Amino acid sequence: MEFNGINFDTYFKNYPDNNGFFGKYGGAYINDDLKKAMEEITEAYFTICKSAKFINELRRIRKDFQGRPTPISHLERLSESLGNVQLYVKREDLNHSGAHKLNHCMGEALLAKYMGKKKVIAETGAGQHGVALATAAAYFGLECDIYMGTVDIAKQAPNVARMKILGANVVEVKEGLQTLKEAVDAAFAAYARDYKDSIYCIGSVLGPHPFPMMVRDFQSVVGIEAREQFMDMTGELPDAVVACVGGGSNAMGIFSGFLNDPVDIYGVEPLGRGEKLGDHAASLKYGEEGIMHGFNSIMLKDENGEPAPVYSVASGLDYPSSGPEHAFLHDLGRVKYDVVSDDETIDAFFTLSRLEGIIPAIESSHAVAYGMKLAKEMGKGSILINLSGRGDKDMDYIIEKYGIR
Ligand SMILES: *Cc1c(COP(=O)(O)O)cnc(C)c1O
Repeated sequence: MEFNGINFDTYFKNYPDNNGFFGKYGGAYINDDLKKAMEEITEAYFTICKSAKFINELRRIRKDFQGRPTPISHLERLSESLGNVQLYVKREDLNHSGAHKLNHCMGEALLAKYMGKKKVIAETGAGQHGVALATAAAYFGLECDIYMGTVDIAKQAPNVARMKILGANVVEVKEGLQTLKEAVDAAFAAYARDYKDSIYCIGSVLGPHPFPMMVRDFQSVVGIEAREQFMDMTGELPDAVVACVGGGSNAMGIFSGFLNDPVDIYGVEPLGRGEKLGDHAASLKYGEEGIMHGFNSIMLKDENGEPAPVYSVASGLDYPSSGPEHAFLHDLGRVKYDVVSDDETIDAFFTLSRLEGIIPAIESSHAVAYGMKLAKEMGKGSILINLSGRGDKDMDYIIEKYGIR
């Protein structure tokens, strides 16, 4: 399929290019030490990951350990309550450890094993990426250092406990504001010192090349499964596909299965409390081109051109940029990016729980909220929503802040 001059039949071969660019976005804006380390990972990825042995091992792990394929569920009662449009969810909440993140963490950790590395390193904010990577490290018998700001350690006690139970070493970062940004800096510094024996595992389609490509490729299992399952269930393609976008990994996973189809694709960003800078984290909707954390993308900037403070009720969507491929698909118009507010999200959280018996993660509730709005607008047809994770982690917070609705 051709769209705005781009041939999507050969899209995955051409994007990113050899230097990691999706159009003008992406690349690797890092110092020479890290550049060397990233080149080593790129080379290893292109050889090891195309080998039958690696692919077969990853396939077996997905089936026997992660519980893939995850099903698609038809949301009959929710659909009926909204009119004639049929809504479906891809159940990444049923992936082991409760979200899509394990899809790329198992891939990254398996790559680490094949490269002969002893340790995986990462940063985490809300702790979700840390837990997924700690799970993968335990499975493969790798050491695992997770860098986390003091403030986040205090806020995310259950995830800190999970990481420690899984055998990870949670490294407290006491610099600056003691949150995600400082944790990223500390983790990258530790990696630059130690890259012979370790590998840095980024938690979304972000960071320097090759990560946006690699994480997309590992997540594409979601889109491949979903397309086939949806065709099996209904005999046709969905009219629309919807996913929430933080860094953008669950979205790239499901979108990649439908980019070459006549399907409308929607990425949903968090509007938080409103349109004022600092009240949301909708980088693609309100941001501009810029470089941060080693890549060029669309980002939210403060008055000094630095990454702006952002807010969302969903800590997993709380990031001032998105992956470079999303910036590319945004400019191209192949994916439409739109927003939903905290309030719409909380409504969707309770609605899905009550009508379908599925408690969604707050992040995923953004996609559900948008799917519900879209269903009313469309009037007929079908919508497939990526339910990126389960909401157990969010229940205490929601009951404390919003009560039972
Ligand atoms: C981390 C997380 C997200 C956001 O990350 P993406 O890279 O944008 O997918 C979404 N949903 C859940 C459940 C998460 O844990």
